[in-house]
Amino acid sequence: MVKKVKAETMKSLLEIYGESCKERIARGVEQAACFWKKKDGTDKEFKKFCEENFLDFSDKEVLQKILQKAEEYWEAVNGCFTKMMLGLLKNIHLETGEITQLDKLFSQFSPMAHLEEDLFENKIAFFFLLNFPSFSLEEKEKFGKSWSRQEWALASIGDMFSSRVPAELYQKINKAMVEAEEYISKYNISLANLTGGKDNDEPCFPKSEKKLQSHWGLRDEIKELYGEEQGGLKKQSALFKVMERIIKQEIPQEVINNSSKDFSWNPFTNETKGISSTPEPDERYSKWLSVFKSISKADRYAFGHSNYIDVNFEKQMKISEKEITDLLIELLSSSQFKSVGKLISKRLKRPLKPWDIWYDGFGVTESSEILDKVVVEKYPNLETLKKSVPEILMKLGFTKEVASYLADRIEIEPARGCGHAIGAEMKSEKSRLRFRMTGGKINSNEFNVFMHELGHNVEQNFTLQKMDSYFLRGVPNTAFTEAFAFVFQSRDREILGLKPSSNLKDEKTLSNFWSACEIAGVALVDIGVWRWLYLNSETTPKEMKGAVVKITKDVWNTYFAKVFGVEDEVALGIYSHAISFPLYLPNYPLGKIIAFQIEKYMENKNLGAEMERMCGAGNISPQFWMKNAVGEKISCQPMLEAVDEILKKIG
Ligand SMILES: [Zn+2]
Repeated sequence: MVKKVKAETMKSLLEIYGESCKERIARGVEQAACFWKKKDGTDKEFKKFCEENFLDFSDKEVLQKILQKAEEYWEAVNGCFTKMMLGLLKNIHLETGEITQLDKLFSQFSPMAHLEEDLFENKIAFFFLLNFPSFSLEEKEKFGKSWSRQEWALASIGDMFSSRVPAELYQKINKAMVEAEEYISKYNISLANLTGGKDNDEPCFPKSEKKLQSHWGLRDEIKELYGEEQGGLKKQSALFKVMERIIKQEIPQEVINNSSKDFSWNPFTNETKGISSTPEPDERYSKWLSVFKSISKADRYAFGHSNYIDVNFEKQMKISEKEITDLLIELLSSSQFKSVGKLISKRLKRPLKPWDIWYDGFGVTESSEILDKVVVEKYPNLETLKKSVPEILMKLGFTKEVASYLADRIEIEPARGCGHAIGAEMKSEKSRLRFRMTGGKINSNEFNVFMHELGHNVEQNFTLQKMDSYFLRGVPNTAFTEAFAFVFQSRDREILGLKPSSNLKDEKTLSNFWSACEIAGVALVDIGVWRWLYLNSETTPKEMKGAVVKITKDVWNTYFAKVFGVEDEVALGIYSHAISFPLYLPNYPLGKIIAFQIEKYMENKNLGAEMERMCGAGNISPQFWMKNAVGEKISCQPMLEAVDEILKKIG
């Protein structure tokens, strides 16, 4: 829109509403004009819209009334759409028997795809843009110190409309992500076909029926093998070789998702028998690149953000890329990383191998069979578990009253996938706890996931039901809800009535630290790849493969090589999230850092009362949230100090 129209509109509003509104008028008109297109109306109509819709908030009563109404409207919109989404995905999410074609069709129906554009077309979006200025992360950090709760709520409304992406582009982005997810979901490797024993033809996993998905399944199998005395190492190295072949796309495409018993593949030599062998044609990078290309097309519709990296950190995570990167580097450059590596090497009685980034031997206690028995005895079926939720919450430290309040608002359902928690977006609805049960029973792993999801559900209820403003519901970003989920998950033994062995807490700290370092490296690779993509947006899948391999090696050589004693490893590039969840990975190390700070603070305090207090802050900036929660900013120091103390104790 031409400057003249904006200036005339501002002048007119200033005449009507007076100097006291000057700043809001300037920001509001600028914001609204930025999104106003020809199809929304003529310049004259724009001016008229602003004159008719601007509100003078110096009258506190006007503001109060508008906020109350706006809360009701948005709760109706978000709450009903969430409820509809749950209905449409019910048979995909829940264990309801065979998935029919009808289930698939309804699951792909996305009634929200046009919502944003509809809100612009009927001018609701312009009403909010005109009346509620958006603040940059920097401004929030600067002004937030003196903001009242209402001012935080106003700033949060200001964040609601920061882009106007055409619905067709949303659909393209969605399509690229769904295709990437499908690619990953069908990426299974059958262990029975892997060879590479002593004489190269011996099966590595004789008689195994396992089909493992990359990367989760492969990684978790490597973790489990630490418990195996004989041959565990050889099997781990075979799985690791499979990962390398995937990252470098040398894997024969014929072996992917092929569980026929008539062939074998030796990942060490990359030879196949009984099947032809053509390297996978850079499909991994082609899918990843499609996601980047569709998402980066939306950059030009984002207001105040230069690209998706900026949107991801400044808008979604609300923490700058630099702040996150500094935290990750602090962890990885610490002397503790090296010392814990030495400790692991001592325990394994061998030099570290690159896959020991997934070392899982900290604080091993009972075997999983014994734990499974404890869980089945305590919770023989879903009904017993459901009835026990108030008791579980009371054991965690919630009062009887709060525990039953929360339990009444959590619906527990058996899921198809490994588990998830979905919060309600309206107060009359319950949040959903979904977790997997095998054959109608619950095993110890599934119970552990149940506890994780319960942490999410409790957070979701506190931050919706008890929040002082609907616009401040939730937590600052995903890492915070993950932090509460980790806190609950780590108390599963307590709930099962198992005595913690004296050193288990220390072992858990070491384990958390080690996995935080691993995922910090993975997150740095993810960020590095996105930076490279923006510099090379016309790239090809083949070229991108070379870049990803180089970036993973660089991160490895800078931070991991000195701990592991080997260079040029590519293991950090195996994560599947990187392909279908753009820039999601940095949430994990941040969640681990935050969770540790929260856990540490809660030592000798009541988890129930503290969690309710912390959640009360809602969706404000992460650093303010953290200061309110534990009295300091987000920091690796508490974790590093704790590791240091343990290392001194162990000697
Ligand atoms: Zn979670």
